[in-house]
Amino acid sequence: TMMNPYMQETEKALVHTYNRFPVIFEKGEGVYLYDTEGKKYLDFAAGIAVCGLGYGNPELTAAVKEQTELLWHTSNLFYNASCGTAAEALKKASGMDRVFFTNSGTEANEGMLKAARKYAWKKKTGRYEFIAMEGSFHGRSMGALSVTEHEAYRTPFEPLIPGIRFAEFNQLDSVKALINEKTCAIILETVQGEGGIYPATDEFLQGVRALCDEHDILLILDEIQCGMGRTGEMFAWQHYGVKPDIMTSAKALGCGVPVGAFLMTERVAEKSLAPGDHGTTYGGNPFVGAAVDTVLKMMERDRITEHVKEITPYLEQKLDALVEKYDFLTARRGLGLMQGVVCEKPVGKIASAALEHGLVVITAGADVLRFVPPLIIGKEHVDEMAEKLDAVLAEM
Ligand code: PLP
Repeated sequence: TMMNPYMQETEKALVHTYNRFPVIFEKGEGVYLYDTEGKKYLDFAAGIAVCGLGYGNPELTAAVKEQTELLWHTSNLFYNASCGTAAEALKKASGMDRVFFTNSGTEANEGMLKAARKYAWKKKTGRYEFIAMEGSFHGRSMGALSVTEHEAYRTPFEPLIPGIRFAEFNQLDSVKALINEKTCAIILETVQGEGGIYPATDEFLQGVRALCDEHDILLILDEIQCGMGRTGEMFAWQHYGVKPDIMTSAKALGCGVPVGAFLMTERVAEKSLAPGDHGTTYGGNPFVGAAVDTVLKMMERDRITEHVKEITPYLEQKLDALVEKYDFLTARRGLGLMQGVVCEKPVGKIASAALEHGLVVITAGADVLRFVPPLIIGKEHVDEMAEKLDAVLAEM
């Protein structure tokens, strides 16, 4: 497919920060998308791990519609009827104690950086350094970018926040070597997403938790991509028998309604952000609160994590068969419905060809095909994906 005149006009109107695929999606239903030409696509991207409950879910749509008819927005100077229930539901799902709602994942990560700094400041520890991970992605704002280890994303915007060091992901000794009396927090994605789909090993995450306990350092987990049921637990860290001191969520938290959150334990909250320290105009307004509340209710009621656990081995088996069949596919890795296949042929070209075949898949890092479908997929959708992808790969 080619750029049509609307796409060309769009490119003139927007800041050119994305090289978009030449398709205009118009409608979604379940795990399928439809473009303006009426062509149907099986979606294994979910808007980059956002639309966990798929597209056009009648119950979620009705809940959001009901709230928008009642009240969209007031401000955080007042209470509203949905952000409290949404916060309670999120506390219950995570076992964390306090929630701050934001508008995006990036903003949630900005908040967690400030929460950790405030905790160290209040305790008069003199600590301010962060240890983050090689291959990390936490967002594009100056703070979130400062803990994102991706040279091309960082270089044009330097200098970034000082006092940040990068350890090798899944190498405990590398983290240990960077800890000093100034270390305030260690930040990682439980499953690295943009960096190429790398789940933390048990040994690593449990080891980092132990190091944090030993040295009075905060453990911060970014669950923006891997959280909200995606890996078969509501939050990926729940697989590991550890608990963070601060965590962030977004993406599937609103299943497409723009909302994020950072959460902390009471121990942190007691010594962290207080009135005047932090704020946001939109965060936790009635509109997004209704979405979060409904998403969490639906995921719990429909046992979404059980479903993910059930369907995952089937997806893994189908992907493994393709890795077996094609020489240029060299490995599969992932956790639950967050899977990556390492590919020695240009992954962007494969994603484009997949679109032609009516399949949406995206990439991660330079050489990984990423599979982050809506969590509601069934075996028939896995079969359809594998068939379509097989046809695409055969042409490569
Ligand atoms: N953290 C992780 C792990 C992410 O995958 C992303 C987005 O891709 C972000 C943070 C940034 O979130 P947002 O794009 O909502 O600002």
